[in-house]
Amino acid sequence: MEKQRIGILGAGISGLMAGAILARQGHIISIYDKAVTVGGSAGWYVRKNRIYPTGATIAFGLEPGGMLHRLLKRVGAFEKLNIRALTHPMDVLLPDRKIAIRFDEQQWCAELSTVFHERADEVLRFWRELKKISLAVEAVTSTEVALPIRSFADLGTLPFHLLRNPWQTARLARYAFVTVEHLLRQYRLHDYAPFRTFLNAQLVDAAQTDIRHAALLPSAVALDIYRRGSFSVDGGLASISKALAVVIAEAGGAIYTANTVKQCVLRKTDGKEVWRVESAKRAEEYDILLNASGLSLTSTDGSAFQLHAESDESLAEQWGAFRVDAILEDLRIEKDLPFAWQIVPNPEHSQLFGDEFGPVYFTMHESRDVNGNVVAGEGMLTASVHTSLEQWRGLDKAAYLQRKQAFTDAILVELARALPHAQERLQTLYSGSPMTYDKYIGKFSVGGRPLTVKNAILSPKGCRTAIDSLFLAGEQVFPGPGTLSCALSGFYAARAIMKRSN
Ligand SMILES: Cc1cc2nc3c(=O)[nH]c(=O)nc-3n(C[C@H](O)[C@H](O)[C@H](O)COP(=O)(O)OP(=O)(O)OC[C@H]3O[C@@H](n4cnc5c(N)ncnc54)[C@H](O)[C@@H]3O)c2cc1C
Repeated sequence: MEKQRIGILGAGISGLMAGAILARQGHIISIYDKAVTVGGSAGWYVRKNRIYPTGATIAFGLEPGGMLHRLLKRVGAFEKLNIRALTHPMDVLLPDRKIAIRFDEQQWCAELSTVFHERADEVLRFWRELKKISLAVEAVTSTEVALPIRSFADLGTLPFHLLRNPWQTARLARYAFVTVEHLLRQYRLHDYAPFRTFLNAQLVDAAQTDIRHAALLPSAVALDIYRRGSFSVDGGLASISKALAVVIAEAGGAIYTANTVKQCVLRKTDGKEVWRVESAKRAEEYDILLNASGLSLTSTDGSAFQLHAESDESLAEQWGAFRVDAILEDLRIEKDLPFAWQIVPNPEHSQLFGDEFGPVYFTMHESRDVNGNVVAGEGMLTASVHTSLEQWRGLDKAAYLQRKQAFTDAILVELARALPHAQERLQTLYSGSPMTYDKYIGKFSVGGRPLTVKNAILSPKGCRTAIDSLFLAGEQVFPGPGTLSCALSGFYAARAIMKRSN
């Protein structure tokens, strides 16, 4: 294997996973990040001696044999983590009922038939089929196939799997090009409003779109994944990013935080492509460039490439995030509470957020100081909603602050439905808009492209580009958003890079 100099743009979970795999293979890795910490949307920030998550709080795929478990084990990062399996990961609050998401299959089926008692039989039959689809998709994912297939290496062990599992293959073929709405119709549930509202809340968070547009195959996994396992990580999901950063450092790689990449210059000498990465503080050359920043890297002259937000057309189908992070005094996190809540907001608040179906998602954690020590007598609450990007553009300062306040107030009103006394205990509160994400991690939109049939099945964005030495990873790329999928995209990019240098 030829040792390559590899520059990686972005130290989010995808860039870090790719960096860890490649550094352990002996390649020379440099990762550049705009933020002062690693992790991007699965990272952390510090304010007034407290550590807050920047985004992700709940992990999937960490069960033995799960894809994230396998990847973290492969690079030696899993042992650095302290994880806890969640038996009651979430409560979903609809206007007229509450659904407790459970890990245990029997408890979950009992919950479905109690909560959706008006149509319990159809709901249970729908879920049984959904589970079969989900297991078939996960079995294919574990073959390590990467879409779109451009080389033999992208196939993983898929051909053997398809031959050995004809029934699963037939089920996947049958549902490949349909949305969740199709399955609802099949089970005559399309007119059952409470169930639609529940599925929409889950899907907007996981697939970035609702049942009318969400591709059934990835959505089935997202909806049933809690039965495979969901996890909290000691110190938050940022601990995964930190563990990968340690692996990279141990393997001789470098991570340059607070190093916004200004441009990447592509030059050809003796038929060989070389990239010069220029950040605010450094300028170095690489044989291969991996863009894991979630931004587009384009050039008008074929030589000087800049990172910038995606086209308006692509941004039109993407979301921003608005978040509230708060410290509550004297908060006791009771044992039987869920890890997180999804609250379907009242129509007025949905209109304010610019999202018809999305929930307010919030979690409570132990509060930790900057040294990672648990702070006794206080708890930390983080809440987020999807917001349309359009309404944040072109605001003057007064209008911006007014909108921020309106969002914060609406989120606090919704929170009170789950935790009636939380507001009385508020000690510190910060809120962040898409502008805040843009300022700190350079991304106005977060969550990537929605998992529609077009984006997820017909024309998924792969890790290769038209330029031989330029690769992609992250939530814009197959298999899509979420820490598990982004880690997988980092792995697929690393595998394609290793194949090229063999
Ligand atoms: C509010 C919120 C809650 C979420 N909750 C969950 C959850 O509970 N569970 C889950 O699995 N997923 C969750 N997600 C999704 C998950 O966090 C993301 O899909 C995933 O972390 C994205 O990883 P990524 O590798 O694509 O890169 P990102 O995390 O987007 O990182 C990209 C990196 O590129 C850097 N960058 C940008 N511009 C430049 C530049 N010019 N120069 C250098 N560096 C640059 C940024 O600073 C950033 O660190 C959540 C996301 C958000 C926003």
